[in-house]
Amino acid sequence: MPSTSNKPAFDQQNKAWLNIGMALTTDASTQPLTLPEKLCLALTAIGLLILGFAGFGLVTGISNLIFALGSLMIGGIGFAFFYYKQRNLSGKHPHNGLIFASLTARGAAAWITAVLLTFFYVLLYWYPQYLGLAANKQLPNTGLIGFFDPLSLTLKKQPASQWFVYGTLYTLAIFIMGVKFILKYQHNRYQIIRTISVMFFQTGFAFLLPEVLQRLQQPYFDFKNIWPLNYYFFFDWHIDQLISSGKLGVFMLGWGVFSIIVLTPVLTYFFGKRWYCSWVCGCGGLAETAGDPFRHLSNKKLNAWRLERWLIHGVLIFVFIMTAMVLYTRFTGQATLWFLNSHKLSSWYGFFIGAAFSGVIGVGFYPLLGSRVWCRFGCPMAAILGILQKYFSRFRITTNGGQCISCGNCSTYCEMGIDVRAYAQRGQDVVRAACVGCGICAAVCPRGVLKLENGKKITNNKAIIHVRRDEVDILFPEKEDRK
Ligand code: SF4
Ligand code: SF4
Repeated sequence: MPSTSNKPAFDQQNKAWLNIGMALTTDASTQPLTLPEKLCLALTAIGLLILGFAGFGLVTGISNLIFALGSLMIGGIGFAFFYYKQRNLSGKHPHNGLIFASLTARGAAAWITAVLLTFFYVLLYWYPQYLGLAANKQLPNTGLIGFFDPLSLTLKKQPASQWFVYGTLYTLAIFIMGVKFILKYQHNRYQIIRTISVMFFQTGFAFLLPEVLQRLQQPYFDFKNIWPLNYYFFFDWHIDQLISSGKLGVFMLGWGVFSIIVLTPVLTYFFGKRWYCSWVCGCGGLAETAGDPFRHLSNKKLNAWRLERWLIHGVLIFVFIMTAMVLYTRFTGQATLWFLNSHKLSSWYGFFIGAAFSGVIGVGFYPLLGSRVWCRFGCPMAAILGILQKYFSRFRITTNGGQCISCGNCSTYCEMGIDVRAYAQRGQDVVRAACVGCGICAAVCPRGVLKLENGKKITNNKAIIHVRRDEVDILFPEKEDRK
């Protein structure tokens, strides 16, 4: 029986930590890094250093760029290979030492990383000139952005922008950390397939295809970036740009509308929100791969759940009003209706939600607040998918309560802060708007209690959970209530 003492003790004989509490079965034993692992880490550090030097204009040239990106890729993937494959840690100890490491336990390393990431995002969104962006197109880029010019010129015959640099690094992060994730969960088919899926959609649809479209003088378009996540889809300049681009542009416009009114509800009905949040979306892709070491940091408190419901639905209402006003302005020529102004609303949304929330807080705070802060508290697309999932979807996580040993692994590693254990202990299906269907709760369950299913629709799931002031009431639908 695990102790409830807060102070862990180290068992020298078995090289394992004891008394780590009810919530975790993680083995926190520390093993020294092997030589190949150290070499791979050194290679990764060299890649990062070169990018850092490039930021100050000290390194330039395509060969150095290839060397830097290659070092990151080989070093990162190599480390994961030796760590998870050679040590055979996969499955056995997938979260080894997580709650004791400074980076993943809100220690000094986590704070330093969060500050650096936040600083980078602030420069990216509001001060790209400090990353080397030229003041106008006649001048050459310098610094980090100039370092990526050769790659950008090769791909789309245009100099790099801050978004090209960001897109390249973002895709690289999903790719490297995606391979690491696959090695970590190599015994879990669901995790392998959905990770390959997010890597494919990020590399093909979010990065390469839009760049190639620009090379062909077509509008930049990410086919999987659906309104309202793509909040500017109905903006005047965007609609005009698509319409003026001929048949392909009109097709893109049609595809965007089709994705909103047909694709989203139909796929969510059959598969839940996971089809988007855990298989397709770039934000989810980064959260699931690069953000994986931080998933346990999600706040599981009832107040966090309450805040989540207010915030995410608040953003959803904001995006609806803003979009309605933008369309109103387009069709009437009037920017103001009552006290609402479409220009102000869209610039506020872009600043507070599109940049500050989704970028700076959403990714910059990974090491402090967990990997799905944006998806859980802010994303309006997740809000719509969540409502559909809760009331109109066949997706649910079934639980075999008799097998549950209440270890709490599922709740600990739920990145959306869902107390899965509470459902498992009651043998009750998890039908939650927030659940992104990542399947990690099922992957870390030592008893095989949890199963992600697209079964028959539960028609009375509205009555399952009541959030009250100080407690959550959970009701029990009878089998015959399910149709
Ligand atoms: S409940 Fe399970 S599948 Fe849903 S978000 Fe949490 S860990 Fe992922
Ligand atoms: S469902 Fe599995 S992981 Fe969750 S508390 Fe029960 S045994 Fe542990």
